[in-house]
Amino acid sequence: MHSIHIPRIQVSFFRNVKFSFERVSKREKTSLSDKQIKSKTGHWQSVVGLEIHAQISSRSKLFSGASTNFGSPVNCNVSFFDAATPGTLPVLNRSCVEAAVLTALALSCKINAVSLFDRKHYFYADLPAGYQITQQRAPIAEDGKLQFQVYTPSIHKKPYLKSSRIKQLQLEQDSGKSLHDSIEKRSLVDLNRAGVPLMELVFEPDLEDGEEAAALVKELCLILLRLNTCSCKMEEGALRVDANVSVHQPSEPLGTRTEIKNIGSIRGVANAIQFEIQRQINILNKGGVVINETRSWDPVYKQTLPMRDKEEKQDYRYMPEPNLPPLRLLIEGQLIPKDAKNLVNVTELQNRIPELPEETRRKLIKQYGLSSESAIQLVNEDQLLQHFIEIMKLEGRDAQMIVNILLIHLLTTLNKNKLSLEKCSVTSATLGEIVDLLQEGRINLLIAKKVLNEVVIGNSKSPSLIVEERKWIQITDEDEITKICADVLKNNQKMVEQYRNGKTKLFDAFVGLVAKHTDQRANMEVVVKKLKMLLQK
Ligand code: ADP
Ligand code: MG
Repeated sequence: MHSIHIPRIQVSFFRNVKFSFERVSKREKTSLSDKQIKSKTGHWQSVVGLEIHAQISSRSKLFSGASTNFGSPVNCNVSFFDAATPGTLPVLNRSCVEAAVLTALALSCKINAVSLFDRKHYFYADLPAGYQITQQRAPIAEDGKLQFQVYTPSIHKKPYLKSSRIKQLQLEQDSGKSLHDSIEKRSLVDLNRAGVPLMELVFEPDLEDGEEAAALVKELCLILLRLNTCSCKMEEGALRVDANVSVHQPSEPLGTRTEIKNIGSIRGVANAIQFEIQRQINILNKGGVVINETRSWDPVYKQTLPMRDKEEKQDYRYMPEPNLPPLRLLIEGQLIPKDAKNLVNVTELQNRIPELPEETRRKLIKQYGLSSESAIQLVNEDQLLQHFIEIMKLEGRDAQMIVNILLIHLLTTLNKNKLSLEKCSVTSATLGEIVDLLQEGRINLLIAKKVLNEVVIGNSKSPSLIVEERKWIQITDEDEITKICADVLKNNQKMVEQYRNGKTKLFDAFVGLVAKHTDQRANMEVVVKKLKMLLQK
C-alpha cells in the first residue's frame, strides 16, 4: 500500500504558528484537515461564515397559540393565523422574546431596546401568507461574540481558543413543510411547523475550516442547552446550519462564496465545509471560477450539490409588518414611553444566566487539575460531566482516574457493545465503586474494564459483589507473582533465549502470558518488575 506523500511545507500564515506536516500519523493522513489541504494545493485561505436557525423551546408558536409539539399528526398544530386565514392577527409570544434576549445576553450581544418586524416575501407552497415575518431593519440583538475551543483529537494536537463575531440575532417564523408523494404524483403541505419560533444567528466570516465551524456549533448547542432556549436536536430540525464558504489567496480580497443549506448534524457541518473548500480549490487551480450558488449537503455520498432554486438573486420585497408594533424591552438606564407596560426586563434576564460551558471547563481545570483536553471532552458530554461531578463528591477519589474511566474505558465499552451514552443506565454510584476498587488496589485496570463491561451490559449487582463472585480480586503478593512469572518463563524457554539474544520486544508477550495465566488478576506493576528481574539473570 502506498502512503500519501505529504511534502514538508512550513505553514506560517495560519495563526502565526509554524509547524510542518512531515510527520503525520497514519490516522491523520486519511483525514486531512483543511489546513493540510491548503498546504498541499498552494496557499489557499478558506473562509467560513455561518447562519444558524435555532428553534426556540416554547410550547406555542411565535405569533399564535398553536402547539409546537414535534411529531404531532400532520396539520394538527395549525391555528387560523398559521394558515394565513384573512382577518387573523399575530400576537407576539412573550416567552420567545425572553428566550431570544437570554440567548443574546449569553452571547454578549448588544440588546436593542426597540426592534422591528418585517415581512420577507417569497412564493412557496409551504408559506401560506406568501411572506415570512422576520426582523431585518432592526433585529432584537446585534454585535455579539462566541468563543469556543477547537479540538478534534484525531486532527488537533492541542485545543485552541477561537472566536467568531455575531452580526445579529433575530426572531422569525419557520415555514411549513412540503411532502412529495411520488406514487400519487402530487405534493402535500404540512403546516405544523409554520410559525414555529426561530432565532436566526448570523455570524461574521471569521472561521477558517470545517472543524472550527463544527466546534462553534457544538459550543452554541452547549450554551443553548444550559439556557434551555433550544433543544438543539438537529435530527428534528430544531437547529439548522447554513454554511457560507469561500477561498482566496492570503493577499487578495475574499473569494466568491457558496452557501450550503440546512446541514443536519455537527459532523455534517465539518464534512460539508471540508468538501466544499476542496471543491472550490480544485476549480480555482484549474483556472475556473466559483459561482455564487446555494448548495445542499448529501451526507450519504459526502458531497455538496447545487440546488436548483435561487438562479438569480431573489427580491424579497421587504416591508414593515403593519400588524405588529415595535418590540420594546426594558433596559436599565433607557427611557421608555409612558404607556409602555409589561415590558420584558433585560436586567432581570441577565441575572438568570446560568454557568456557561467555558466557566465549567475553567472550574474543572482549576479545582481538579484536569487538562484542558479532558475538560473539553467532559463538558461536551453532559452525562459524563454529571457522572464526574457526582463521583468526585466523595473525598479522596482520584480525578484523573475518574476521567480515564469515563472518557476512555466507559466510552470504549459502550462502543464495543454498540450502546450509546444516552441509553446507558449505569449510575454514578456504580462507576464510583469501580474507581474505589481500583484505587484501593483490590482490582487492576484489566479487571476494572471487565467489571465495567458487566455493568454496561446490564449486570445489576454491585461491582464489589461482581468482583467477589468472579474471584477477580487482584493478586498483589510479591512471592506469589514471582512464582507465577518464573513458571511462565520456565514454560517458554525458547522465547526467553530469543529475548536474551536481543529480541527485547518479547517483553510484552511475557507480560501478556502472565496476565492470561492469572485471568488478568495480577498486579501488573509487580509483574513487570518481577519479569525484568527474572529475565536479567
Ligand atoms: P448577504 O447580505 O448577501 O446575506 P451577509 O453579509 O449577510 O450577506 O452574509 C451572509 C453570511 O455569509 C454571513 O454568515 C457571513 O459570515 C457569510 N459570508 C459573507 N461573505 C463571505 C465570504 N466571502 N466567505 C464566506 N462566508 C461569507
Ligand atoms: Mg444576510
